[in-house]
Amino acid sequence: MIVVLQPDVNTASETGRKVLEYLRAKPGITPKVHEVTGTQQVLSEIYLVGDTSTLDRQEIESLPGVGSVVKVSRSYAVLGRHADDTRSYGFDYNGVRFDQESLHVFAGLCAVDTREHVEIMMKALAERGLYCTRMGAYKPRTNPYSFQGLGADCLPWVFELAGKHGIKVIAMEITHDSHVDEILETLEATGHPTGVMLQIGTRNTQNFELLKVVGRQRELPVLIKRGFGITLEESLNATEYLASEGNRNIVFCLRGMKTNMGDPHRNFVDFSHVPVVKRMTLMPVCVDPSHSVGTRAACPDGISDIFHATAQGVIAGANMVLVDFHPAPPHALVDGPQALLMNELDWFLADIEISRAAYLKRKERAARALAAD
Ligand code: PEP
Ligand code: MN
Repeated sequence: MIVVLQPDVNTASETGRKVLEYLRAKPGITPKVHEVTGTQQVLSEIYLVGDTSTLDRQEIESLPGVGSVVKVSRSYAVLGRHADDTRSYGFDYNGVRFDQESLHVFAGLCAVDTREHVEIMMKALAERGLYCTRMGAYKPRTNPYSFQGLGADCLPWVFELAGKHGIKVIAMEITHDSHVDEILETLEATGHPTGVMLQIGTRNTQNFELLKVVGRQRELPVLIKRGFGITLEESLNATEYLASEGNRNIVFCLRGMKTNMGDPHRNFVDFSHVPVVKRMTLMPVCVDPSHSVGTRAACPDGISDIFHATAQGVIAGANMVLVDFHPAPPHALVDGPQALLMNELDWFLADIEISRAAYLKRKERAARALAAD
């Protein structure tokens, strides 16, 4: 059960404190308070852990200061969208709003290699008014002899270049809890020229200890990939590890499922799950067409499979696109064959615009149909 306080009430106020005291007095119930920062206001939510079956919902709803009571109907209590759930969700990070309405493109390098490539990428984004990117410094590789990423050494100059080109958020995968500290320390040392969205890769979706560490820090938001060989339900439960530790600034990313049934694509594209995740949870949903498709191959219509998959995600209402570009794919140290070319960036953005406009039109049409009911 979730007790949502009225917008002007928090647990530090007299009214809120009384609600908390009332709930604490219930046997076998542990209330956990979460503050949700929205664009207009801060909402306080009290999560009741324990057997809530004996609680009188109407009595709680009638307490002064209580806005609503939500009955938890999914195992992912914080992030799940429950039966009568009217909680709003979304977050602002470094001036960028992430929610189930917005759309942001994170085009960038799969792996940071040279300063020159990073700068070419960031400059191209800035020239097109883009303010987010992806830059991998820590790379989880199948083969131990493959390039493992430049690690902490590249962080100072990557952040400095991001600041120079007005990049506000960099999606960056971490594979160990020490990487969180390295990123936070470097941001501090460089004077916060940019922001970082910590990325949990598909291989670490069920690395529960890493999830707990990442969830415990509140400074950086998190992009968590769907696990490539587990059920959607299991991946959504994994996201709850982050949220239950306190960090609720989370975006969920679809990146295809590992099965040969998806051949010749690298993974089986699962973007039909964009609306499913939006329906089951409150999280914004990202699609990663690069790691899903895994090749620059194009269809006879002249449009590449990565463009097509991106369109499928965006037209279904995706809120973020994470995509690999590279100034010289043959020289990329990781995933060159799936990197889009710099001269495709304008076309890629224009293609997204077409799909986004189509999605907004579809949404408008649905609203009319529902209003007519
Ligand atoms: C990546 O985005 O660089 C990556 C390794 O993706 P995934 O975890 O989805 O394989
Ligand atoms: Mn990659």
